[in-house]
Amino acid sequence: MSPIPKGLRKKFSPQSSSFDEGWLKKTLNKSLGFTMKAKPGVFHASSLGEDARVLLWRFLGIFEEEISAQQARKMGRGTAIHTAWAKDLQNAGVLVVAEKPVNEEPIHGRLDFIVRPPAGTGEPQIREVFLLELKSQGPFPFSKTFTPDYRALCQWTFYSYKENIPKGYIIYESMDTQDTKYFYCVRENKDVYVYLNQVVIAEWPNLVNDIFEKTYYVTWCASHNALPDKCAGCIQGCRYPKICEEQVKTRKLVTLDEWRLLNQKPVQSNLVSSVDGKEINNAEVDS
Ligand code: SF4
Repeated sequence: MSPIPKGLRKKFSPQSSSFDEGWLKKTLNKSLGFTMKAKPGVFHASSLGEDARVLLWRFLGIFEEEISAQQARKMGRGTAIHTAWAKDLQNAGVLVVAEKPVNEEPIHGRLDFIVRPPAGTGEPQIREVFLLELKSQGPFPFSKTFTPDYRALCQWTFYSYKENIPKGYIIYESMDTQDTKYFYCVRENKDVYVYLNQVVIAEWPNLVNDIFEKTYYVTWCASHNALPDKCAGCIQGCRYPKICEEQVKTRKLVTLDEWRLLNQKPVQSNLVSSVDGKEINNAEVDS
């Protein structure tokens, strides 16, 4: 091959050219990144496990988070994993419904899957349905997951209660290796138990009431210019310190205990008590 003539070589050298070889990466990153804003007046089922103070930022619609291109890619891969599971469950003949909206104003959510074991499998209550909540994780958090995280558990519990499906699984899939971890979850009335290999590895007494009580508390704080308790994990750092700093100046702290006294309403929720007697059977689900 003949060498590039001297003049041309200069023209195309990175130092002298105006051509930006990084254009593709920059363009994609710009197109992928976005600002995630909370919808005011709504609790998302996936956020029910947050501390009350952070839930308030979301409920007020002042919560904002910059999502980088890398985070957006991860979200996209997470969605792709959900799509693949829906197809796999369908092919296995166990899928009853996928991506079903579940709302209890002002809580909005969308459960992942309801499945039913094929005939001839397992125990006598063979045709009962199970509720699945699927989470995708990077390799490091996946290796550290030995029980469902609190957010996933609250989300599963909310759907379980609303759909009246007391059993199911929280499943984690590694984004890297497609390895999976299954945690069997059982809701007995308002309490939730997590099993692994038929052994209870975590129990959450009164979780159903805790979830609803927190939303009542936050809603009340929103309309009374009040500030909920400091988050339990505050010391480990916060994703929204700026919002907190501003809100602390204008809102009066009303702790959960103070709010309970003010409302003369201990942990009881009308909503939850009204279904107490109904949860022996599985809910009827879309098929
Ligand atoms: S600064 Fe602390 S108390 Fe405030 S929102 Fe963040 S974690 Fe919660």
